[in-house]
Amino acid sequence: MARIVIATILLAWSQEVYCWGFYGHRLINEYAIYLLPPKMLVLYKPSLEYLREHAVDADKRRYILATEAPRHFIDMDHYGTLPFQGLPRRWEDAVNKYGTDSLQAHGILPWRILQMLGALTRAFRDKNALDIIRLSADIGHYIGDAHVPLHTSSNHNGQKTGQHGIHAFWESRLPELLAENEWDFFMEKAAYVDNPSQFIWGSIIESAAAVDSVLLLEAALSAQTQPDQKYSYEWRNQQVLRQYATKYSKKYNQLLNGMVEKRLRKAIYTVASFWYTAWVNAGQPDLSGLTTGSTPLMVNQTDSLDFYWRRQPPKGKSCE
Ligand SMILES: [Zn+2]
Repeated sequence: MARIVIATILLAWSQEVYCWGFYGHRLINEYAIYLLPPKMLVLYKPSLEYLREHAVDADKRRYILATEAPRHFIDMDHYGTLPFQGLPRRWEDAVNKYGTDSLQAHGILPWRILQMLGALTRAFRDKNALDIIRLSADIGHYIGDAHVPLHTSSNHNGQKTGQHGIHAFWESRLPELLAENEWDFFMEKAAYVDNPSQFIWGSIIESAAAVDSVLLLEAALSAQTQPDQKYSYEWRNQQVLRQYATKYSKKYNQLLNGMVEKRLRKAIYTVASFWYTAWVNAGQPDLSGLTTGSTPLMVNQTDSLDFYWRRQPPKGKSCE
């Protein structure tokens, strides 16, 4: 019996874990819409549901595309220490220095964001509403990942420091517990980004600089907490779900001094500003007459993942 319960707990523990979680990624894409100017809102506001629902498509693709996984992280610790000056920021220079295989092995997240920005700019130029919204959902996802410290570390789930589970603790458990009632997402409007490469590398470096705090503060809290106070268990969908206890989670959030909320806010602002920059660089096309078709936003004809998703449900953590 005990073995069954443990197996069930482990099963529940390993499921439904995504980068920023479903909750965080949806929140980022939705709140980014509110920072856009009216000329963009005419297209983005009716697409709110799509942008929320498809905020995690990029994670789902990891199960059907071998090339997808490296797009969600970059192991900055592989390149030395802050501020990682040895790592060329330009893709071509980085390839010359390290080779494509090595770069892919350690993650290509910032370059992926810049590549998506180019694709989104082209979609605006073509006034292709469906592509604009699809690519906006995806770039929102990748920018969200860039703001999670553990997406910039090879110790991405605390596996090197005996803190297995800390990835989802930081990016899923804390936002789900605190974002709605305790955090504030009122902020300044989207702004034009002069140098997207410099900007997004800045976000990556900020995340990398926060990795030690994410790990060390949890380790310290764990050391002074009784094991039975660290986790709580609840029945959900006929499974015992183990999660970090509410009190423990709130203490961790206090120790982090608002870090998760700040990274979420910065992610939202950056997503909106990158959408806005793509639109400006495309010549600020009039979006008011564009439609995404009758229902294509919910039933994505050309790139539907739902079909694969049903056939091939995810196993394990996508962020590991
Ligand atoms: Zn991701």
